[in-house]
Amino acid sequence: MSRIAILSALAQEQHGLLALLLQPQKVQRAGREFWLGDLHGHSVVLALSRIGKVAAATTATALIEHLAVTRILFTGVAGGLAPDVQVGDVVVASSFVQHDLDASPIFPRFELPLYGRAVLACDEILSALLFQAARDHLAEASAAAPARHRVHRGLIASGDRFVSAQAQSVALRRALQRAGHEALAVEMEGAAVAQVCLDYGVPFAAVRTISDRADDQAHLDFATFVREVASQYACAIIGRALRLLSNK
Ligand code: SAH
Repeated sequence: MSRIAILSALAQEQHGLLALLLQPQKVQRAGREFWLGDLHGHSVVLALSRIGKVAAATTATALIEHLAVTRILFTGVAGGLAPDVQVGDVVVASSFVQHDLDASPIFPRFELPLYGRAVLACDEILSALLFQAARDHLAEASAAAPARHRVHRGLIASGDRFVSAQAQSVALRRALQRAGHEALAVEMEGAAVAQVCLDYGVPFAAVRTISDRADDQAHLDFATFVREVASQYACAIIGRALRLLSNK
């Protein structure tokens, strides 16, 4: 049986999905709550990643080991790093890097020791599906209320830090660029889930709505955005992706 995990970073993002879940059944593991049920014709588990890489890795491991999920989709918010990635835009990950991993000079900066790589690729098919779902959602939303939000697809950087200063975000982007990585956005969980999924051979993809620009204003933008926009985006984009998946 195929079961899809839908991981949300924040409870506000999970509420809408939980409200649509048919035959919900709660399971507790590792101090976490998991909701099993049916969503848009798929057997799913809804879970909160919790915040930060280790917490997200624990959640992903529990999903795979104890709840037998066969695919993982992640929905959350992120700070925009590249200049054209603005608040309200959506970034679909093609891959992840851990921006706070530095075992140099033994391994090149950002490289995962013993993995021989810094970049963790997402599943091509699931990532394309999320990209289409995000584009369809934004096209429909802007038909109702014109807005210039865009959907991007590319590298996302994860690390155990809420980046909330312009100087920090510029330095982070430059350090990644020096190692050949052009990151579109920054958040705190995706690369950890990607690494667990690589270890287990579980297909993984992620979509992040840009809540802030990882600058001096980030904490204010973040709070407003999560409350007013992120939850609707998560529900709409994941809903569309699941419906597209039924048609394939
Ligand atoms: N729980 C707190 C703060 C959450 S931390 C609150 O609700 O106010 C921020 C979350 O959003 C993390 O899950 C992270 O993945 C993402 N995020 C959004 N903007 C970010 C930024 N500028 N830097 C790092 N992570 C960011």
